[in-house]
Amino acid sequence: MAQKTSDSPDTDVIVVGAGFAGMYALHKFRGLGLRTQVLEAGNDVGGTWYWNRYPGARCDVPSVEYSYSFDKDLEQEWDWTEIMAAQPEILEYANHVADRFDLRKDIQFQTRVDSAVFDENSNRWTVVTDSGQTYTARFCVMATGCLSVPNTPRIDGQDNFAGSVYHTGNWPEGGVDFSDAAVGIIGTGSSGIQSIPVIAEQAKHLTVFQRTPNYTMPAANAPLKAEFLRQAKENYAAIRAEQRASQVGIVGYGFGFGGAENVVPTQEIKQTTPAERQRLVEEEGFLAIRRYADVALDEEANELACEMYRDQVERVIKDPATAQALMPRDYPMGCKRPVIDTNYYETFNRDNVTLVDLRQGGIEEITEAGVRTAQGDYAFDVLVYATGFDAMTGALGKIDIRGRENRALTEYWEAGPRTYLGLQIAGFPNLFTVTGPGSPSVLSNMIVSIEQHIDWIARCILDLDQRGAQTIEATTEAEDEWIAHVNDVAQNTMFTAKSCNSWYLGANITGKPRIFMPYVGGVGVYREKCDEVARNGYQGFELSA
Ligand code: FAD
Ligand code: NAP
Repeated sequence: MAQKTSDSPDTDVIVVGAGFAGMYALHKFRGLGLRTQVLEAGNDVGGTWYWNRYPGARCDVPSVEYSYSFDKDLEQEWDWTEIMAAQPEILEYANHVADRFDLRKDIQFQTRVDSAVFDENSNRWTVVTDSGQTYTARFCVMATGCLSVPNTPRIDGQDNFAGSVYHTGNWPEGGVDFSDAAVGIIGTGSSGIQSIPVIAEQAKHLTVFQRTPNYTMPAANAPLKAEFLRQAKENYAAIRAEQRASQVGIVGYGFGFGGAENVVPTQEIKQTTPAERQRLVEEEGFLAIRRYADVALDEEANELACEMYRDQVERVIKDPATAQALMPRDYPMGCKRPVIDTNYYETFNRDNVTLVDLRQGGIEEITEAGVRTAQGDYAFDVLVYATGFDAMTGALGKIDIRGRENRALTEYWEAGPRTYLGLQIAGFPNLFTVTGPGSPSVLSNMIVSIEQHIDWIARCILDLDQRGAQTIEATTEAEDEWIAHVNDVAQNTMFTAKSCNSWYLGANITGKPRIFMPYVGGVGVYREKCDEVARNGYQGFELSA
């Protein structure tokens, strides 16, 4: 256990953020006897699921897998109702966990951390909040989220709009009443694709502004059957073991139980004939593409899959011009975060939905009445930005983080994020990032990755105390080697294809360096690497007495 020293820091650990990462961190560290203070900008727990309350928001990982594994009783007592849970249910789960483990007493809400500065004399972090409160702690754990800073693009005239404006990533707690409203929505990423069908059902009219058409697969979500839930609960130990050893932290448990089948891609699309591909897409629709393993690795194979995809769009969309506009071209399938949907394409067959293909003339300005594009003006009462996030580095960049010699993290990361294992940064002792750049993070079921990181950090803190070490810090050499490895494994995948512009690469934020941020090596391989590093006396880290 960390010893209380004579200069008595306020706490042993400051955790910033009370999403799933911060909540588990608090529970875990508390269990080790560490005095832990969590600081959270929002009014309550849940992070992503607290902020993203837009209509249609839901998880795309099977519910039984997108849940904590750290407490066997918790696993047994919580009943998920759908194969993939909707936002209200996930938020309810977060609240249940907070109540059950009495987390709120150590979380200060409505508190934004503005700065975190390391003092080399005392080896302590000083954290200052937006109300000017100061905390000191030996360790600082940044559980600030990878998708927690909404991105609202700068568009001329946007303050002139007379109606209401919302961002999917910062949705009002009481919801939005769209009945009788004409709505405009900008963005067709995951959030847009989830919300568009639901808003279209509620609103008088919906105008969708699409810059880049996406690839999306039908979710085939369904209620969870009691028998399935019973089986899942019985098998939880095996499910968790498999998740931890897997590529993305998902076993597929839940698929095949009334929902979409869990298909493991084993065939090669390049070995098929055009007639076979056409037959398959006719029989199985978009989902036919899932059977091919080479689509993720080979650009030629990928293009064949994209052709199948466009064929299916043409089949589903009634209006030929709208179908053309909805067809993704010019970039490979799998370069961006996969999207799954419920009734997305069918929505564009509705009479009250208009698609504006911005490739035919982009947004020029936002006016008092709506959006002016090179193709004409569109008027509405409510404007929704579904324009994503400053991902992975955004939240850290908003905090003035200073390590040794008062060096700013933003300066150290000017050319792109540098970490060792996505857990630590050279020159920033005792500061940990959770699911940081350089770890599987957003390429995985994030609860699996969150638990792995928090468990690793907890073990590390215990080990430091056992060795009598005050600080731990990644070395620059270990960081260099890890970054080279992260870049290496991302090469020759669709993620880094020349034509790919994704938020994984920072391409959605003007001026952000183009660096592929997450680690593609897989959750299982990565876990082994982290464990090996710890076993070998924290290889690549410097421990100071
Ligand atoms: P978050 O949940 O983002 O929590 C971070 C918290 O830190 C926030 O509450 C924020 O307010 C707080 N914070 C940030 N900066 C500060 C500061 N300076 N001071 C104080 N507080 C601060 N992942 C999956 O694996 N599967 C999914 O299906 C999935 N669906 C998603 C759907 C949406 C709409 C979004 C946006 C993300 C989704 N994700 C999904 C990713 C999701 O972010 C993670 O699964 C997970 O919830 C992240 O938890 P977290 O605690 O790391 O971060
Ligand atoms: P996103 O994927 O980054 O999509 C943003 C959309 O906004 C894109 O279509 C983008 O177009 C568009 N856009 C941005 N700026 C624009 C501008 N100036 N003019 C016109 N269009 C503009 O963001 P997101 O949809 O919020 O999703 C972010 C991530 O959150 C996801 O990838 C996923 O990890 C997570 N998420 C998951 C789920 C889920 O199903 N579980 C749901 C929601 C979110 P371009 O493509 O042309 O840039």
